[in-house]
Amino acid sequence: MAAAVARIFERGGVLLAEAGTGTGKTLAYLVPAILNRERVLISTGTKNLQEQIFFKDIPALRDALGIPFTATYMKGRANYLCLHKLDRLNEGVGMAVNDVFLPIVREWAIRTETGDRAELEDLPEDVGFWSEVSATAETCLGTECPRYDDCFVTQMRQRAAASDVVIVNHHLLCADAAVRQNAYGEVIPACSRVIVDEAHQIEDIATQYFGYSLSNYRIDELARDVERVVTAGIVDDGNNEIARAVERLRDHSQAFFSDLAFAHRGSGRVKSEERVRATPESLGQTRETAAELSGALDVIESTFTLLPKIRQNEVDTDGRDDGIKEQIAALARRAGEVRDELRVLQRAADDAYVYFVEFRGRGIFLRAAPIDVSTIVRELLLDRMHTTVLTSATLTVDGSFDYIRSRLGIRDAAEVRLPSEFNFEEQAILYLPRRMPDPRSDNFATAAGREVIEILKRTRGRAFVLFTSYATLRAVQAIAEMALDYPILAQGAAPRSQLLKQFRARPHSVLFATSSFWQGVDVVGDALSCVIIDKLPFASPADPITAARIDAIRACGGDPFGEYQVPLAILALQQGLGRLIRHRRDRGVLAVLDPRLRTKGYGARFVASLPPAPLVYDLSAVEAFFSD
Ligand code: SF4
Repeated sequence: MAAAVARIFERGGVLLAEAGTGTGKTLAYLVPAILNRERVLISTGTKNLQEQIFFKDIPALRDALGIPFTATYMKGRANYLCLHKLDRLNEGVGMAVNDVFLPIVREWAIRTETGDRAELEDLPEDVGFWSEVSATAETCLGTECPRYDDCFVTQMRQRAAASDVVIVNHHLLCADAAVRQNAYGEVIPACSRVIVDEAHQIEDIATQYFGYSLSNYRIDELARDVERVVTAGIVDDGNNEIARAVERLRDHSQAFFSDLAFAHRGSGRVKSEERVRATPESLGQTRETAAELSGALDVIESTFTLLPKIRQNEVDTDGRDDGIKEQIAALARRAGEVRDELRVLQRAADDAYVYFVEFRGRGIFLRAAPIDVSTIVRELLLDRMHTTVLTSATLTVDGSFDYIRSRLGIRDAAEVRLPSEFNFEEQAILYLPRRMPDPRSDNFATAAGREVIEILKRTRGRAFVLFTSYATLRAVQAIAEMALDYPILAQGAAPRSQLLKQFRARPHSVLFATSSFWQGVDVVGDALSCVIIDKLPFASPADPITAARIDAIRACGGDPFGEYQVPLAILALQQGLGRLIRHRRDRGVLAVLDPRLRTKGYGARFVASLPPAPLVYDLSAVEAFFSD
């Protein structure tokens, strides 16, 4: 792999490199990239991998290679502390002045060199307080900020601009490309060589970033920030004009989002997470409230566009300007942007996008996503770069790169495939139970529950049980909890990193989880000796993005099931099963409960792509494996 990367760095172009688990693919691309002596951008699927490369692989290479090079990592702005916001809180201005986490952040701010919240282990992942001090683009004052020079974001950019190796993640890579024109966005330094690790995720992440999205949360945040400049005394609202505009904004937002919900799900209940396709017709039902909301945003925009002029004299006579004009202008800009996006979304007129409403907890999102990201990937990576390496443990289907090539629009590319270093023959078995009902039948969950119990008794817990839906997860969990004494953890009970910590710390734990644990989770050793998957992970054709992609393939005369749905599910299954063997000494059982692997014609494609572990069909073989 290192030789293939070195060759592509020399002659330019695209390399597709699949390197199974344990091959050391990170070092295989880092070594030739560093030896090339030109700036290289590395993009990873997760922040975890970013940190692993920066804190583990780079120092090891610095010692081993004996040549000087500099490296840095960049994350999205929201990961960094905003010193200006912290200053305001320290002056007693802001909603979070009494927050329990403020002293922790204050104390850390003095000693941190990066301002990256990942250093703050005591701060829970999903704590709302962080948004009160984070360096988001929407609230940044840019060069007008009194702390601009010591700002962690400014420093991160300066470090990156002076580094040979810049490690980003796909979210940042896409966000950067999406906001390139905006001075306050993310700014990755110019670079002509990129290595995209975990490249199988690029389609999904580009889909998220190159669309439009408007939510009730986004408008609530805008309303809150507008109110904040009044309560903080930044603007004077003597005649309550701003207060009335905010009230109108909230009222119209509520009316619009409840119309939107009613038009797309009726008055019935929906699952905690659901997406429903939106069309110009369905959105027609919200025309009136959308126009009113748009009008309310107009008022905020024009009020704040006029304000700096009013305020200018006062600022000058105070002799201080803490970026007040900028804050006011930023609010006007935000209101205008939200209004423009609302109009684009409400028209739902661009055929290149699929429009949908997403319900998530109490959030209602009106979104548009690109149906085909290949042009975006071409413009973002392939055309801009002299060299692009796309690598992952799972890039091929049926032994070929055709699927990833077609999804990402890659024509000319060199290819290299390296099998896993692990000895699956010895280290694992693959258990496919003989008698399981059809996964769409009512008794599937009960049968799956029974199988899970029998398998876990033989593995003595120590397992990930991965589901394609919450409904089956909950049903199987309820059955398993009655029959097993092992500690059972379930996704949603705690943040992901905490669940993993508990899983590692408590012997014989069993973790029940859905899609987010299928990828990027690393548990080495005995604690994880079994991975059970309930169903083949087909993306639901009821999902608007999947449905739009199926329609697009069909419209071009293709076979969406064979060309898209099966390959996508194969890659997801490989990722899920890939959680088990992470080290040469790891051993364990993989189990797939879905009978379609054996009963359907396409099942053979799945079986052929599974890790080359011996297939077993009886629980006695599972028992024998663990008694060896
Ligand atoms: S430049 Fe922006 S992010 Fe940095 S401290 Fe100032 S307001 Fe915060």
